[in-house]
Amino acid sequence: MADTKVEVLTPRDVPLGGPRAMTVRRTLPQRARTLIGAWCFADHYGPDPVAATGGMDVAPHPHIGLQTVSWLFSGEIEHRDSLGSHAAVRPGEINLMTGGHGIAHSEVSTPDTTLLHGVQLWVALPDAHRDTPRAFAHHVPAPVRVDGAELRVFLGTLAGDTSPVPTFTPLLGAEILLDPGASVTLDTDPEFEHGLLVDEGDVTLDGTPLRPAELGCTAPGRAALTLANTSPRRARAVLLGGPPFGEEIVMWWNFIARTDAEIRQAREDWAAASDRFGTVTGYPGDRLPAPELPTTPLKPRRNPK
Ligand code: MN
Repeated sequence: MADTKVEVLTPRDVPLGGPRAMTVRRTLPQRARTLIGAWCFADHYGPDPVAATGGMDVAPHPHIGLQTVSWLFSGEIEHRDSLGSHAAVRPGEINLMTGGHGIAHSEVSTPDTTLLHGVQLWVALPDAHRDTPRAFAHHVPAPVRVDGAELRVFLGTLAGDTSPVPTFTPLLGAEILLDPGASVTLDTDPEFEHGLLVDEGDVTLDGTPLRPAELGCTAPGRAALTLANTSPRRARAVLLGGPPFGEEIVMWWNFIARTDAEIRQAREDWAAASDRFGTVTGYPGDRLPAPELPTTPLKPRRNPK
């Protein structure tokens, strides 16, 4: 018998850093949940008037053991990384950066951006692939129309559409626009757990109401999910999914590893400007220094039972 509850995670506000400190709403990780499938980090931001917030300006910083997914609803971000990628992140286009053994990148909202609105997500790499070489992928999913909704499947398969972007574990990532008053039932993989991050509108997930910025989570065992928009306006949400990630991870700053020692090594490598991370060219400013590590060892985490 599948667990039929929808667990509702509320976000906390986190300043992103930078001169004027744009704030994001973070739903993953938190005490109640570390991962949904391999999804291990979910930041939701905007719509932010850039004239007031200063927009996004994240100086070059490193990653290991994870992939970053940038998905925008409005605005544009200039991405530069140590592979030499110089890409425009635009609404409806997935930019997937693989950190693997080590990468560095910067993210800056473009001068033409007036409203910045989207999500920044991380995927934990499984042990067998977490030292993979750095990589960057881009894809523009064609919108898929079903009765009551329009979907953009940026990773995995939903509503008959499959993203061509390869992943290291089975994953689902899709933007869903729900028509006013619509109720939509989508077939899902029963081996997946899911998280529905509501951006705007009054949405229910299998009958459980979710407010904007909340993440509704379901356990494996469901062959379908029903999303309903109870408001007279269009609603928007992002559906994430994957089979439970069976490994414990150690997360600190921009690193995902398996042990405290690996994290300390990565911090040291970044501080020493090691080739491990490469160099980001074209960013007008200094790279981000790593924060101080806690003196006590970092502990591995998994989802609480
Ligand atoms: Mn980053």
